[in-house]
Amino acid sequence: MQVYVEKHKCTGCAHCHDVCPVAVFEMKDRLASDVNSDVAPEADQWKGVTDQAVLDKWKDVKDGHNHFQEKFENGSGGISVAVNGPSCILCQACLIECEGECIVITDDAGTVYHSIYK
Ligand code: SF4
Ligand code: SF4
Repeated sequence: MQVYVEKHKCTGCAHCHDVCPVAVFEMKDRLASDVNSDVAPEADQWKGVTDQAVLDKWKDVKDGHNHFQEKFENGSGGISVAVNGPSCILCQACLIECEGECIVITDDAGTVYHSIYK
């Protein structure tokens, strides 16, 4: 299994980190040197600019999560990195919880799954 995050769309909500039963995701500070350490293609790596549509949708939402915050603290903020993709068991929990609809999973047969917020 291959897993990556389209990082320009990640809100930092940490839902993926919280629901994954096999610890595929780690939350990283947005300026961390290893923020692009999953298998995301070049276009989906973090370059410091958030997708405008995702920003507009979530920037003012008050649901207890730190959206678009530089650092991960008190359970959210920062950016998600799929550091342990090969452990994914395709339970699909993260695929319905992802606010930014920015998780991409490819199974061993080449089928691609993209997160869609519930
Ligand atoms: S689909 Fe994979 S990455 Fe997502 S929560 Fe389940 S095991 Fe974790
Ligand atoms: S659930 Fe999606 S938007 Fe939220 S931290 Fe994970 S990858 Fe980012």
